[in-house]
Amino acid sequence: MRPMWDTLWLGAHLATMTQGEPYGAIRDGAIGVKDGVIAWIGPRADLPGAADTLATRVHSCDGAWITPGLIDCHTHLVFAGNRAGEFEQRLNGASYEEIARAGGGIASTVAATRAASLHDLVASAEGRLEGFKADGVTTIEIKSGYGLDLDTERRMLQAARELAAVQHIRVRATFLGLHALPPEYRDNRGDYVDLVCNEMLPALAAEGLVDAVDAFCETIGFSVEEVARFFEAARALGVPVKLHAEQLSNQNGAALASSHGALSADHLEWLDDAGIEAMAREGTVAVLLLGAFYFLRETKLPPIEKLRTAGVAMAVATDCNPGTSPLTSPLIAVNMACTLFRLTPEEALAGMTRNGAKALGLQNEVGTLEIGKAADFAVWDVGEPAELAYWLGAAPLRERVFAGEVVA
Ligand SMILES: [Zn+2]
Repeated sequence: MRPMWDTLWLGAHLATMTQGEPYGAIRDGAIGVKDGVIAWIGPRADLPGAADTLATRVHSCDGAWITPGLIDCHTHLVFAGNRAGEFEQRLNGASYEEIARAGGGIASTVAATRAASLHDLVASAEGRLEGFKADGVTTIEIKSGYGLDLDTERRMLQAARELAAVQHIRVRATFLGLHALPPEYRDNRGDYVDLVCNEMLPALAAEGLVDAVDAFCETIGFSVEEVARFFEAARALGVPVKLHAEQLSNQNGAALASSHGALSADHLEWLDDAGIEAMAREGTVAVLLLGAFYFLRETKLPPIEKLRTAGVAMAVATDCNPGTSPLTSPLIAVNMACTLFRLTPEEALAGMTRNGAKALGLQNEVGTLEIGKAADFAVWDVGEPAELAYWLGAAPLRERVFAGEVVA
């Protein structure tokens, strides 16, 4: 008789990240995988038969811990060039203004990205993706937003799709149309917002390139009125929304996003009580971005305790981008969530698994180890799950498993 599962994973403790027990832990657990999906999970002692009769392959883990594959729900992974030169200039005493006047800042990334081919964008992103894979990431969100014209935004989103096709990773592609004002629209910003809402978004959505939209709501970004127009256009097309909100000042962006049923509001250092209340009411995920907080040497903390008390789900992400967060290690973000924002290790890990999935609308597919979810997981050489938040730069990953298969 044919075994009922393709693979049976044995000899590991499981941090299922379901709610209830700490980490949803199952000591000496077992996972049965069929067609890339978790078909059975529980204590090894409860297996419905002898291991070698249950699956075609038995994979023994020798005391490791298995968690859901990590989910980085906020990155700008696709871009050309980098800003290491500006980083160096600043540390040699140059001001932001001097760098901006010389064509630096986001304008330099936009210029480099516009000049890059699809092949170049994929190749440079693949290099950065290695760090994420080495930290057990199986799902990543990638935003556009360095093209700010239709052709380049399309190329960025195509690069995100291409990465999913060749890299054994789930990718959600987000159209960040309102990221910055392109230089050619400096004196007529209304026309740019029109272009994004009326031409770019409908075209890119029709091509199947847009899983969500995002915007940068800030005094140096876009106003709540401009963002609201963009969100209305997205919702008319059935596209979910996300928002960079309350990073540098309180613009009431999180409340706006929540009122549009946003999957998440991200950054949130300046989030106020009304914003927390709106997020709790609408089930909007709070995405905490440690890399930017660290890199910009911010001191204003997001209201973690109030978010916790209000029951707002908190996700943790790298925000990997060339300007404010050149961070390619999700596990470092998990560590920083504990050291800088005082999350517990369990909260931080939930932020990169269960709540990361929710911030992408993927909570029924990934983010926990449960029957019916994708068999995306990470096998770790650690004695306890808290070690994933504790070590800084330890590389504890033993195996990355995507849709039931061990992948590089
Ligand atoms: Zn961002």
